[in-house]
Amino acid sequence: MERILISACLVGDNVKYNGGNNKSPLIEKLLEKYELIPFCPEVEGGLRIPRSPSERKDGRVINQAGDDVTTAFERGAELAFNICLFLKIKKVILKERSPSCGSKEIYDGSFSSRVIPGMGVTAEYLKEKGIEVYNEDEIDSLLND
Ligand code: SF4
Repeated sequence: MERILISACLVGDNVKYNGGNNKSPLIEKLLEKYELIPFCPEVEGGLRIPRSPSERKDGRVINQAGDDVTTAFERGAELAFNICLFLKIKKVILKERSPSCGSKEIYDGSFSSRVIPGMGVTAEYLKEKGIEVYNEDEIDSLLND
């Protein structure tokens, strides 16, 4: 069975900044076809639950309290890639609009809920390394693959 690394919040793990999750209704269907490896780059990078929400801004990641958390985000991205290498994972499913996991859109850095085209730190890093990055709206294409 092919392995896919997936944002831990999409399988229902309470790892979001506010202690919640983004469980996808398609997880059970995915499990019929793939072995899912849940991973949260922010938590694995060293951030706590709950934590201040963060946004990308001018090449850095800043949380709403004004702290620069770029190092933790970069550590999470590297760890995600290490797992992909170790488990021979070629595809990941990442939560859209997250400053770590977003693959097409992210918030603009002003904490005003404005969305712009862009990628989160982990999504960008994995794509650069040649991993196929999908978001939760593209799960259907993986189910019909
Ligand atoms: S960093 Fe990714 S996996 Fe973790 S809570 Fe945010 S979107 Fe979910």
